Formats: sequence, C-alpha cells, structure tokens
Amino acid sequence: MASNKIIGIDLGTTNSVVAVREGDKVTVIANAQGNRLTPSVVAIGEKGERLVGQVAKRQAITNSKNTVYSIKRFMGRRHNEVAAEEKLVPYEIVGGPDELVKVRVRGKDYTPPEISAMVLQDLKRTAENYLGEEVKKAVVTVPAYFNDAQRQATKDAGVIAGLEVVRIINEPTASALAYGLDKKKNEKIAVFDFGGGTFDISILDVGEGVFDVVATNGDTHLGGDDLDQRVMDFIADTFRADTGIDLRKDQMALQRLKEAAEKAKCELSTVLETDLNLPFITADSSGPKHLTMKITRAKLEELTRDLIGRARGPCLRCLEDARRKRGAAFNVDEVILVGGQIRMPAIEALVKEIFGRDPHKGVNPDEVVAVGAAIQGAVINQEIKDILLLDVTPLSLGVETLGGVVDILIPRNTTIPTHKTKVYTTASDSQPGVEIHVLQGERPMSRDNRTLGRFELTGLPPAPRGMPQIEVSFDIDANGILNVHAKDLGTGKEQSIIIKSSSGLSDDEVHKMQREAESHAEEDKRQRSLIEKRNQADSLVYNVQRTLKEHGSKLSEPDRAKIEAAIKEIQEALKGDDLARIERASETLTQASYTLAQMLYQQKQPGAEAGPAGPQEAPGAAPGPGPQAPGETPGPKGKGEGDVIDADYEVKE
Ligand code: AMP
Repeated sequence: MASNKIIGIDLGTTNSVVAVREGDKVTVIANAQGNRLTPSVVAIGEKGERLVGQVAKRQAITNSKNTVYSIKRFMGRRHNEVAAEEKLVPYEIVGGPDELVKVRVRGKDYTPPEISAMVLQDLKRTAENYLGEEVKKAVVTVPAYFNDAQRQATKDAGVIAGLEVVRIINEPTASALAYGLDKKKNEKIAVFDFGGGTFDISILDVGEGVFDVVATNGDTHLGGDDLDQRVMDFIADTFRADTGIDLRKDQMALQRLKEAAEKAKCELSTVLETDLNLPFITADSSGPKHLTMKITRAKLEELTRDLIGRARGPCLRCLEDARRKRGAAFNVDEVILVGGQIRMPAIEALVKEIFGRDPHKGVNPDEVVAVGAAIQGAVINQEIKDILLLDVTPLSLGVETLGGVVDILIPRNTTIPTHKTKVYTTASDSQPGVEIHVLQGERPMSRDNRTLGRFELTGLPPAPRGMPQIEVSFDIDANGILNVHAKDLGTGKEQSIIIKSSSGLSDDEVHKMQREAESHAEEDKRQRSLIEKRNQADSLVYNVQRTLKEHGSKLSEPDRAKIEAAIKEIQEALKGDDLARIERASETLTQASYTLAQMLYQQKQPGAEAGPAGPQEAPGAAPGPGPQAPGETPGPKGKGEGDVIDADYEVKE
C-alpha cells in the first residue's frame, strides 16, 4: 500500500538523512545498519551490482575508482565549472567542456542525477521499511545557493528514484522550520550551514508560523572536503620530504590518506593534537613504509585559514542585502549552526566575529535539515496548518540584450513564487525573430553569467526596429524553478520554455533512467535478500556446530550424521549465489537439528514431558548478532524503533 506520508530528505554531499513527521513528532529514520546518517556514497561492484551508503564507503579504499562520493558537487554542472572538484575525486569525470558532466564507472557513464537517485532509492527504502508501506512523495533539500540547473538535476534524481519530489526546499529554510516551528516570539535568525561540499548563509524573519527568508548567499564550491584536501596535501608533502615517495600517485594509499585526514580534522575539533598512524601505507625497495605523525589544531587552522575565511564574504553580503531590504538597523538575534563542519572551533569563532554573538547550540547540525524537510512535507500534506514559508531566489535572473548586457527581470532575494514581465523590442529593421537568452547570476555582462537556456521567437512581421513589442515573462515556482515565456504582442505568437534542459536531461531520458533504476531495485532487493539469507544460514551453521560440539556426544550416530550432512550441504550452498538452494539447505538443517533441540529441551526440564518443539526453536534458528559482514542488512526496523525527536528539535548538549 502506498503511504500518504511525504518524507523529508536531506540529500547531502557527504551524508544523507531521511525523516518523517508522525503525530506531533519528527522521526529521523535509522537505516538498515541502524545509522541515522547514510553516507552519500555509491559504488559499482565487479558484477555491476550497486552498493550504497556505508557498504559502499567501506570498500572505497580497495575500489576507489569505482566509488562515487561528493556527487552533489557535480549536480547540474558543466565540465568547465568543476575543475577544482574534479581534482578532489578519484573517479573519472567525462564530457566536453560545455557539456554537463558524467561519471564513468566500469566503462559506463552515469549522470550525477542517476548517482544521486541511487542514494535516494536507498533512503526511500529506509523510510518504507520503517513505515511499513510504500513511499511515493518526498520533499528534498538543496543548498539555498543552488542555481536553476542544480535544482532541476535534484528533481530529476527524485524522479529516477521513483519519488515524486513535491517540493525542493532550501536547506537553511528547512533548518529554520525545524528550529522555529513552535516559536511564538518573532526572531531574526541567521542559518550558517557549512557542510561537506557547500556553504550557505540565510537570514530569516521567523515567528508565529511565518518563515520569511530575507536574504541568502553562499558558495557552492566550499565545504569540508576542501579542508580534508589541505590536510591530505600536508601529510603527503611531509611524507614525501621524509621518504621521497609521493603517496598521491598510489590510489589505495590516497584513499587511506583521505580517510585519515578527515578523521584527524574531526578529532581536532575536540582535542588540540592528534596522531596519524597508517602502517604499511606503501613500500619501496627497502621494504614497507609506515606513516606516523602528529598534527595539531593550530596546524589545521593554519592550513585552512583562507578556506574558512571564504565564508566571511557571503555572510557580509547577506547581511548587507537584508539591511537593504529591511533597513540599516536590521540585525540578527540568533545564529543557528548547521552542517558537520561547524564543529570546528575556528568556524564557530568566525561566526562569533561576524555576527557578534555566540551561536545557538540547540539543534543537531547533522539532522536538522531533514527534520525541516519532513515538517515541510507535513505542511504540504496539510498535517500542519498555518505555516507560511516565504523563500527567495538566490541569484538574479534576466535576459541578454543588445551588446551582451544582462537585463535583470528578477533580482536576487526576491520572494518566490514570483512572476515578472517586461516588454522588449528588435534591434534592427525587419528583424524576423528574437533570441531569448535566459541568464542567472550577478555579473553585468551575459558571458560572465550562467546560461539557463535559449529559445527563439520567430516569424515576426517585417517592421522598423523598435516597433515590435515582445513581452517576456519569468515565473519562478515554489521550488525555485524558472519558466520563461515570450509573446509577440503584435501577432499574439508565443513561445515558452521551462528551463528544463538546464539539467541536461530531457523528460524521456529521465524516464529511461527511472526504468533502469526500477529494474535495479528488483535486483538490489534480490541481492539484499540473498545477503540476509546467507547471514542467517551462516549463523545457523555456527550455532548448530557449537551446540553439536557441546552436546553432540549424547546424540545417536544416525542423528549426528544427519546433522553433519545438513551442515555440509549448507556450506556447499553458501559457496554459490543460488538463493533457493540456500533456503532449502537452511530448512533441511533446521529440520535435522530438531532432534538436538528436543534433547536439550528435555534435559532442561527433567521430568517434564517434552513438548513438540517447533523447528523455529532449533538452535540457531534465530541467528544471533554475528559480526557485521560487508553488505549485511539486518531486517527492517519496526515502527517505533527509530529515534523520536521533538518537532521543535531542541537538543540539549
Ligand atoms: P554534512 O555535509 O553536513 O554531512 O557535513 C559533512 C562534513 O562535516 C564533512 O566534511 C565532515 O568531515 C565534517 N565534519 C563532521 N564532523 C566533524 C567534526 N567533529 N569536526 C569537523 N568537521 C566535521
């Protein structure tokens, strides 16, 4: 049965989170491994199988070229826009300079929305396991500073994953919703969001159910990944100075280095010095080499000072824009910190310096965005009433006019949804048509901004220049997605585009990918089921063997032989991938061990009549918590087992 719930998804650069509102509470749903954060990592295995989340992250060191992380940095981007991010990742980025990038994994090209869809599919499944019903709708968050193409790409990812993205909502706005849902008094808040791949700042007026975004700014090329890179370079440079070996040339060493650098960075948020210890990191003719070094918080701050400083400009511009809109005396009452990277003390110090106050510590920086998205889902579903969300468009939108100059129709920080029209004319006599070149950005010349799309309005009747009247209208919907329309007022001829092509995917392509994802969903389900059955069979064998060792001597020889044969069969079955055979063999062993179970039962209850112990009581039928094998997926979490978080989301530290 399909649920009428609208889940909230924070599709993060590093981690993703899914939440749902039930009754008055928002639950952040734990995934199959029991974690509330799912790494936004996807890997393609040798047989083409798709691994997502922790399982994918775990094998990144040995399969780095086929493991895709930080895909959010490539969403809706052309190749010439991602030179910096391309250097940060070990996987192959393909496509001409002006084309939208694709990722090549094991010889197959994937668009960033396709990769993101694999993460979304996983989160969808997590929510379905928890709710016990199919989920069809989601609110998905994006950085406020995402442009039109990046938003559209995110929506496409949802469709590919089989989700209707009922709303794209800005991450800081979602955080503000989670923070301020039950706040009665009016407050002006700043949401400072420094995540793995993007930095966002938004200023909002919040109170009595109204969430009014005053201004927003940010940098979609700045995040925790960049800090990791600095630490990695420092370690690699130091190691090269000592040994002459450049670890960056060895993919496996590089991946270990990356993980160690991030770990050290995180540790240095709470301690002043940490040890790096990477034994057998590489080898030369003299034998294996180990990497051990100390790194201090002061060193980390020195290495990353300029990166952290890059957050200052957007904050000041955002404050300036807010004051321009609301008056020079406008000031913020509270700063909310969001994103994993804000735990770094130097970042907190920067926030304090810019806003002149200690930031608010009451929200969980990793989960608040998903919680806000779930609240927005409940608002759309009308489970929560009397909420008014007034968001803004982060970047100015306009058209190219004569001489390559941009004429802005919708300035940045305009409240959305919005509609603007303007009348233009021709530049030469008898001009048969006009090209509408739609642009997004803050620079005066069109070449310095991002082209969202172009279209032609043709068939204008011959007329002297300046005579035709061409009305251009821009509509931005609640998702921040633009629809452009042009009309020749003389003839009534019209032409319009939804700036869809900006994500690079036509509807057909999106639907094709959706079908592909669906077909993989079946295969993934089979894989998961196989892994579960394997694990169960494995622990069944383990438990029966253990019991046999302890009590087997009391069994008759034929009974014992029967059990041993059944164990052998299951072990043989486990060598292959035949699910039915594993199931059959498990059943046979369960049956064979019945005698053993019965004997133990009788021993425990001397004098008592041995009841017909059902096969489910055979030793090992309920597998114990064995070691987590890679890919192990415990059964779905029951409803009510997920952690419950208050809607106002106050977490006391
Ligand atoms: P997000 O995109 O919000 O999940 O943020 C992920 C980023 O936060 C990654 O770059 C992490 O390395 C970083 N991060 C997580 N925990 C910490 C910590 N304790 N100190 C510093 N950075 C952290």
